[in-house]
Amino acid sequence: MRDLIVIGGGPAGTSAAITCARNGARVLLLERGRFPRHKVCGEFVSAESLDLLAGLLAPQDKPLLADAIRIPRARVFLDGRVLETTVDPPAASISRLNFDAALWASAEQCGVEARQQVVVRSISGSGPFLVETSVGQFKSRALVNASGRWSNLNRTSVDGQNSGVKWLGLKGHFAESSPSASVDLYFFQGGYCGVQPVNIIDGAEQSARVNACAMVCTDVASTLSEVFICHPALRERSRQWKPLSDPVSTSPLVFREPQPERDGILMAGDAAAFVDPFVGDGISLALRSGSLAAESLLPFFAGDVSPAEAARNYVSAYERRLAPVFRMSSKIRRMLSLPQIIRTPILALLEKSPAIAHYLVSRTR
Ligand SMILES: Cc1cc2nc3c(=O)[nH]c(=O)nc-3n(C[C@H](O)[C@H](O)[C@H](O)COP(=O)(O)OP(=O)(O)OC[C@H]3O[C@@H](n4cnc5c(N)ncnc54)[C@H](O)[C@@H]3O)c2cc1C
Repeated sequence: MRDLIVIGGGPAGTSAAITCARNGARVLLLERGRFPRHKVCGEFVSAESLDLLAGLLAPQDKPLLADAIRIPRARVFLDGRVLETTVDPPAASISRLNFDAALWASAEQCGVEARQQVVVRSISGSGPFLVETSVGQFKSRALVNASGRWSNLNRTSVDGQNSGVKWLGLKGHFAESSPSASVDLYFFQGGYCGVQPVNIIDGAEQSARVNACAMVCTDVASTLSEVFICHPALRERSRQWKPLSDPVSTSPLVFREPQPERDGILMAGDAAAFVDPFVGDGISLALRSGSLAAESLLPFFAGDVSPAEAARNYVSAYERRLAPVFRMSSKIRRMLSLPQIIRTPILALLEKSPAIAHYLVSRTR
């Protein structure tokens, strides 16, 4: 019997596992994949979680954050206009190849029993929990489900059918000479593509490149090359690019209302809710919700509160500190999908008043 089983070794799962293990809990972390691996992601790590990330990384991986490229600017290319706003404090650009592997290593280093290539098939009980996996059964007093947006454990019968539009995520790394130190978002009918500079770190070697990551309707594009021709400025820019990684993709992208608790299980990261990727906050929300889940469970492990009370404390901290980001980002998403005739005056206003654009961005934080 462990104190805690965490399902999923992404930012949410490792954040929960590391925080609990450092406070003396016996933690089993289960991940179906294998690190390091590329993942569909814009790799924009917003400033809100950088202190938390610095605390979670093991000492040998601190340079991953300290040396990361900073992103002090965002440019939005839409309807022939370029809206520019500062990202203040600047975000960090960190490849998921390095990011997830470093957090996994940190979990191992602080005593988490971390097992890769183990698929969780089902969960029973409501505390203690029985977890059925590809390598056998495990029991725990508490459970954090951090298995991401679309795992076999999180799908419901209505998911994937909402609104009939099917979204796809695509990503690839490319060589570009002198990329701008900004996150550049190219919006077009049926999707958008973000581009920003990033480094891959391999021992003492650093390899510079740009990450191009798109969210697109499946009837508009199914490859990055098809995405690039959807926007004139992106088509022009991508002409000089040379691929440096195999492209990766993920689908479907399904947006859900936040649900931080289900049948006594604490849901963290994308498993609790998937925020629209263009706000660049998914990693930050994953790290923060993982650590909030852990902080809510620690008093239960110490015998100070019941499991139900721990879950209630998590839900209320989540609602207070994280849920507002989801509400604001869906408002912005609705604004961007307005008909062009309505969008044009709004964009003109934002172009003339960078303070309003900056305010909107800050409300998604
Ligand atoms: C197109 C796109 C662009 C994005 N761009 C950005 C960005 O620029 N900045 C940003 O902050 N966020 C971005 N995001 C969002 C970000 O990638 C996620 O919010 C983040 O990865 C969530 O972390 P997580 O730990 O909750 O889930 P994940 O990182 O998905 O980790 C979940 C883990 O659980 C494992 N798992 C799943 N099922 C099981 C199972 N049954 N058993 C065992 N293990 C299992 C998976 O293998 C996976 O490793 C983007 C997302 C998309 C789709």
